[in-house]
Amino acid sequence: MYCTHCGQQINDEAVICPHCGCETGRKRIAYNDAKSTGFSVLSFFFPVIGLILYLVWKEDYPLKANSAGKGALIGVIVSVALYILVYVVVFGLIFGVLGNGMYY
Ligand SMILES: [Zn+2]
Repeated sequence: MYCTHCGQQINDEAVICPHCGCETGRKRIAYNDAKSTGFSVLSFFFPVIGLILYLVWKEDYPLKANSAGKGALIGVIVSVALYILVYVVVFGLIFGVLGNGMYY
């Protein structure tokens, strides 16, 4: 098929024209799709739910899926960062105590 914006020939499956970057109109965005802060926050606290919502919505509601996906991603990163922090602090305390015990 041909891009409706620049007229270049493009792949039939293409959603975005590689020549001009415009949407080809192949995939219509659902009328009720929108970014959702609520789902971002929900996904932040429950990354598993966010991931599921992302997978379920990514075809029909890409904006909502992105909101949920980003929230889940940030939630996972923050969880891992906190986990590492706690891990370091706890091990620091344990080895600190053991170290002191050996010297005294
Ligand atoms: Zn184009």
